[in-house]
Amino acid sequence: MSSNSKASRIAGSLCCILGLLASQAAPAAEVAVDVGHTLAASGAVSARGRKEFDFNRVLAERVVKALAARGLGVRPINFDGRIESLDARPQAAAGTDFFIAIHHDSVQAELLEEWEWEGNTLNFSDRHSGFSLFVSRNSPDLETSLRCASAIGAWLRRQGFAGATHHADSLAHRPRPYADVQNTVHYYDNLVVLYRTTLPAVLFEAGVIKHRAEELALLDPARQERMADAIATGIAACLYVPGQAG
Ligand SMILES: [Zn+2]
Repeated sequence: MSSNSKASRIAGSLCCILGLLASQAAPAAEVAVDVGHTLAASGAVSARGRKEFDFNRVLAERVVKALAARGLGVRPINFDGRIESLDARPQAAAGTDFFIAIHHDSVQAELLEEWEWEGNTLNFSDRHSGFSLFVSRNSPDLETSLRCASAIGAWLRRQGFAGATHHADSLAHRPRPYADVQNTVHYYDNLVVLYRTTLPAVLFEAGVIKHRAEELALLDPARQERMADAIATGIAACLYVPGQAG
């Protein structure tokens, strides 16, 4: 072996060691994943009488797996459904880099119709479907919140998911103006989990569980996995490539 090739081998290993040290010095971003609602106050009720909390927990578990598969750190919040208050959620997320709350959507009360399902009279509406994203203008980091929300929406659309339209139109008693129409991102300024925090924060509504067909679609494990994957890809893209939300 020539001294030249030996020198280059040493330089090569030194480079690898330095690379390893650099990767250890910059730990992966950590994402707080919050399951919306609790066992005691379980949120919306689906067209077939299922609780929103149960939908939220299942999807949040898939989002945790998808984020971890991308090498991101994850902090699960309220997976047992026993968190004591809204304030406790951002508090539990302190020290992470990004907060996402997982929810499932309903529609305005005047759109609901009655039907019979397994001997029970329940209500539904087949008029609206699709995902929505929310950020708060009172957030301490609106720029990152919005960039990540747009990135998540963009990756969902790329995977064939469609955004909902019922949060900004005249039917809403409390309209949520669009922050990014294309990617279905709205402003929801006074949402505690979005602004009483030091983190960039996004609330995700996966779809409308009052919609009879979308409820069934939202229960499909393969579709849940594709959705979780798109969410994780959007978060990874926006946390690692600032300014390129897609
Ligand atoms: Zn909810």
